[in-house]
Amino acid sequence: MRTVIITGGSRGIGAAAVRKFAAAGDRVYFLYATSEEAAHQLAAATGALPIRCDVSEEAQVEAAFSQIPDVDVLINNAGISEYGLIQDTDPAKFRRVMDVNVTGTYLCIRAVLPFMLKKHAGVILNTASMWGLVGASCEAAYSASKAAVIGLTKALAKELGPSGIRVNAVAPGVIETDMLKSFTASDMEDLRQETPLQRLGRPEDVADAFWYLASENASFLTGEILNLSGGFVV
Ligand code: NAP
Repeated sequence: MRTVIITGGSRGIGAAAVRKFAAAGDRVYFLYATSEEAAHQLAAATGALPIRCDVSEEAQVEAAFSQIPDVDVLINNAGISEYGLIQDTDPAKFRRVMDVNVTGTYLCIRAVLPFMLKKHAGVILNTASMWGLVGASCEAAYSASKAAVIGLTKALAKELGPSGIRVNAVAPGVIETDMLKSFTASDMEDLRQETPLQRLGRPEDVADAFWYLASENASFLTGEILNLSGGFVV
């Protein structure tokens, strides 16, 4: 039985991943920031174990991972977005996006490495975005953070490959979750039409990609950024 840690597991893509891995019999722990009720409902429905932890806070990450006996797969999924013109993005907001999306990813990787290095095995999956590949107007902080996640993924694939650890990322396109709740129905319809596959992504699409990347079928795959955008970005 693998031990799988999923950050940002209380909602959206992370919750779909919790459901997928737990249903397959993995021992799943998931981290969340504030959604206590959603986390406990998901835990009750799946048997996964929730831990409250802000991934951007070093002490909280250390405390969370000290409760986990082993790690085979880490899925760094916790993330936040920020919309607005760059001149309207104040430094605190810019830093917060970097802290959660980039530093949070780094801190969780740092926390699992002792387990993985000891076993000379492990899988680390990061969550980028198509905007980290090509950049989005009015999402400069978010795009920069996801480009950093891509750089981190590629660098660590090289650094950790000789230690038996694979590091890959998924770069989703438009996925229907709370992250897009500020978009109107008409915005969402425009995005659907702009997507060559003519549908919006579902959290389960990303969970399926995590599943593949974590599996033995992907045993020769590392340093890859899987573009999961329905063709939006090619
Ligand atoms: P979501 O529905 O807003 O869920 C975000 C999750 O991250 C929640 O579980 C939230 O926990 C957790 N989280 C946020 N800040 C955290 C922190 N500081 N510490 C720990 N957990 C934290 O978002 P989503 O759409 O599922 O996004 C998941 C990932 O996919 C993100 O990295 C996002 O950037 C990426 N992504 C999403 C899309 C999309 O279109 N939706 C596209 C590309 C990439 P709480 O519930 O406790 O707040």
